[in-house]
Amino acid sequence: MVFTKIFKLIRNHFFNKIFYSIFPSFCSICGVFLEDFQQEICTACRHQLDVAKPRDFLASNTSSLFFTNKQVVGIHVLFRFEKFGVIQKLIHNFKYYENKKLSLLLGKWHAQQLLQCKILDDVDFLVIVPMHPRKKKQRGYNQVETYAEVLSVETGIFYQKNFFKKIKTSKTQSRQSKKDRFENVKNTLQLNYSEPLQGKHIVILDDVITTGATLLSCLDLLKTIPDIKVTLVSIAMVYDDFL
Ligand SMILES: [Zn+2]
Repeated sequence: MVFTKIFKLIRNHFFNKIFYSIFPSFCSICGVFLEDFQQEICTACRHQLDVAKPRDFLASNTSSLFFTNKQVVGIHVLFRFEKFGVIQKLIHNFKYYENKKLSLLLGKWHAQQLLQCKILDDVDFLVIVPMHPRKKKQRGYNQVETYAEVLSVETGIFYQKNFFKKIKTSKTQSRQSKKDRFENVKNTLQLNYSEPLQGKHIVILDDVITTGATLLSCLDLLKTIPDIKVTLVSIAMVYDDFL
């Protein structure tokens, strides 16, 4: 019993990455061994996953940041992001360990929710927030791209790759004011799409919305396009800025 506890502690803290890459059948949140019938997340962790309710995330402070932009017609998130919570662990594993099975699982759940609430009914295509090519090369993948591909297959909505381009890396945002965060990200992005966008409805996808600075910068690049409509979709979102 004691040995099992020590073993779990060592595994979770020091060998997480190795375990995930060698043994894909461990829970993506707590790291326990999964039974055959469990997919990526153990039963105990699944019970702790609180799927976000539209009335809550639409009333959040973070949503109000976006709704001041006239292009934004909808926001949808799968989970509320809270510091040190289950979703933080889930997003961390999603971001830093290339877990395609987890992307597939979350993407399918998310697609079901999106289709049920009909938020995507007149959407023309789906795009993602960009990652700097150097960062993608270092990491070897972009987890949001994988997620976009799953959502595209599940919803039947076209995924337009490289719509936004990251031309510079932005500084770490945690100690900056909201205005500084926005200014910091603002000049690092470019629109990389030459077709007419007037009257189009696009979905911008991110994995987690914390300060909202990157998405606000994406919206800023679209602000002069007449009648464009944007729906923001993210796996998780901070409801009130805690950074
Ligand atoms: Zn678990």
